[in-house]
Amino acid sequence: MMPSDFLNQEITYLKGVGPQRALILSKELEIKTYKDLIEHYPFRYVDRSKFYKIAELSDSFPYIQVRGTLVSLVIKGEKKKQVMVGKLKDETGILELVWFAGLKYLKEHFQLNQSYIAFGKPSSFNGNISISHPEMELAQGATNTMATTLMPVYSTTEKSKFAKIDSKTLLKLEHTLVAQLPNNLAETLCANIINDENLISRRDALYHIHKPANAEILIKAQERLKFEELFFLQLKILYQRSLTNLKYKGQVYSRVGNYFNQFFKEHLPFPLTNAQKRVIKEIRNDCATGRQMNRLLQGDVGSGKTLVALMSMLISLDNGCQNCMMAPTEILAHQHYQTVKELLKDLPVEVALLTGSIKGKARKQILDSLADGCIHILIGTHAVIEDEVIFKNLGFVVIDEQHRFGVAQRAKLWKKNNLRPHVLVMTATPIPRTLSMTLYGDLDVSVMDELPPGRKPIKTLVRFDKSRLEVFGFIKSQIKIGHQIYIVYPLIAESEKVDLANLEEGYQEIIHHFPEPEFKVSVVHGKMHHADKEREMNRFIKGNTQLMVATSVIEVGVNIPNANVIVIENAERFGLAQLHQLRGRVGRGAEHSFCILMAGNKLSHIAKQRLKAMVESNDGFKLAELDLTLRGPGDMEGTQQSGILNLKLADLAKDQNILIRARAAAIRTLELDPDLSKEENKLMRNHFFETYKIKTVWSAIS
Ligand code: ADP
Ligand code: MG
Repeated sequence: MMPSDFLNQEITYLKGVGPQRALILSKELEIKTYKDLIEHYPFRYVDRSKFYKIAELSDSFPYIQVRGTLVSLVIKGEKKKQVMVGKLKDETGILELVWFAGLKYLKEHFQLNQSYIAFGKPSSFNGNISISHPEMELAQGATNTMATTLMPVYSTTEKSKFAKIDSKTLLKLEHTLVAQLPNNLAETLCANIINDENLISRRDALYHIHKPANAEILIKAQERLKFEELFFLQLKILYQRSLTNLKYKGQVYSRVGNYFNQFFKEHLPFPLTNAQKRVIKEIRNDCATGRQMNRLLQGDVGSGKTLVALMSMLISLDNGCQNCMMAPTEILAHQHYQTVKELLKDLPVEVALLTGSIKGKARKQILDSLADGCIHILIGTHAVIEDEVIFKNLGFVVIDEQHRFGVAQRAKLWKKNNLRPHVLVMTATPIPRTLSMTLYGDLDVSVMDELPPGRKPIKTLVRFDKSRLEVFGFIKSQIKIGHQIYIVYPLIAESEKVDLANLEEGYQEIIHHFPEPEFKVSVVHGKMHHADKEREMNRFIKGNTQLMVATSVIEVGVNIPNANVIVIENAERFGLAQLHQLRGRVGRGAEHSFCILMAGNKLSHIAKQRLKAMVESNDGFKLAELDLTLRGPGDMEGTQQSGILNLKLADLAKDQNILIRARAAAIRTLELDPDLSKEENKLMRNHFFETYKIKTVWSAIS
């Protein structure tokens, strides 16, 4: 047998796996081959070198083991909400064990008044320490089966456990398998990378991940396998990008001319920040290469992205191209239109606004002037990507607040010109570097991490329900001196009904405490008709209402300098990036502004940490990084659809360093060997093309 074939064998060939087990493995755990089994990595390891005493446990402990006598076992509660509670006793105290599933089987399975070893993570509930779903093992004879100190723990299902395939069974199978691993098991990474990155071989990594002799070798094994996983993910993103670059050419912007220079010299209302200068330079360089630019501009709220967009469009105009700027809502499009007109003043630049509500003659006129090239900058909503909108020579597109536009919508733009227009996507939602490298790995990323000078920091406070009247009092005092207030409620798809009810209740409470005619209240939520939403927003923008009660659909990027207080209800339910972005609605005027985070009474430890971070930091990127570490990538915006959550071993929050190395290695590899045709990359290429179903560059072009 070739060493490369070893892992492709069917699982039934493994000693200890008969037809029955093979069926369960395949059905429950999707394990059909040796490869599937060996890549069913442990999700944690238990330190079996020590037994802890029950009295010393706290919820800060990792996974541990205790030894004691199972003194009781009771099933409590009604049908669907049944739990089973066991009590484990040692000489220092009693520990509660709790199960929520598989109760009947477990109850019959356990023996009362026997000595057990329980493994699990202690947690605390109402001050009592307990372990949920511990792994249990009769103490007698336990030490014989497990001689290792770092014992791998594998995920299984209730059904597989019922069929006697639990973590321990898997461990035995894994041990059987790794004992047979050929010494010359095929590599997937080329020798250069393995050397440069100081990685252990694939064979050794697969061995030690399942049978680590000590913590050091385990870390090396994990490093190697995580690196490999992230490397191929990055290689895929970058390879596909280079494929796109070969296929599509962009406009070449070879010069900076009068439009840009005159604006810069005579119209710029304030000096550019260093971040703005840097980003404009990045964009300029990018547009001169002949490739289509695909750039993501991440800039904290208020960092001055609009100006960067405008100046980029002027460069484009200097090179004879038309420009288009898209915003997610009419209100935002309108605001951009006004800002741009104002900044350009008397410069001979034709700017037009196109939204869904511009109809008839006015619309026809805009469409005509676009087609004959008279309009230089078109600003609008989704309306600008409709088929009837035809440009003479579209060269540059700005998309503001990217997360509201899908990839498919972006792709519609490509059709508007022979050469693909350059694309600048702007977002105020800070995305941690590791996530953007992966989610937007096909885009170049520019970051504006600097605010224009002289901004007053927003004061952020956490308040609980009991001080609600006090908060209302404060709001009244701010309204009295002429300010406007946002009150924001969460609206999350899974709990939409409850959320809308909360908003309605909150609204009633507000109009009760802020009665007409002294106070006027606007309300906006996602379930309202578009026209009603715009009307309510406009009443607030014009200052006809002083309070805006809204769900988080509240217009991103909207600029109302007079609003200086934002109250966020159930703040613990929002992501930090989102809280930060909402907070950015205020602090746009000269006055002091406030963000009041209303919190539920029973906050988890993590929720407390997150709210504290909001109070302490005004740095969107720092907050986003922290959120990623505290909540994990699954809760971050945009990750659900991306597939990065399917990573087997690597964790984008914890393995940033490995990711950065892997990406750099992937870039180096493609620089030296763009289509991976060199002999030394052969194994790597085979693995890559097979595993990721990659088409070659050349087949994609023809
Ligand atoms: P965002 O990045 O959130 O879209 P904007 O482009 O709306 O930010 O800019 C926020 C405010 O900062 C605007 O009022 C704008 O005029 C102002 N601004 C932009 N650049 C500068 C600068 N270099 N110096 C001072 N103020 C600036
Ligand atoms: Mg903006």
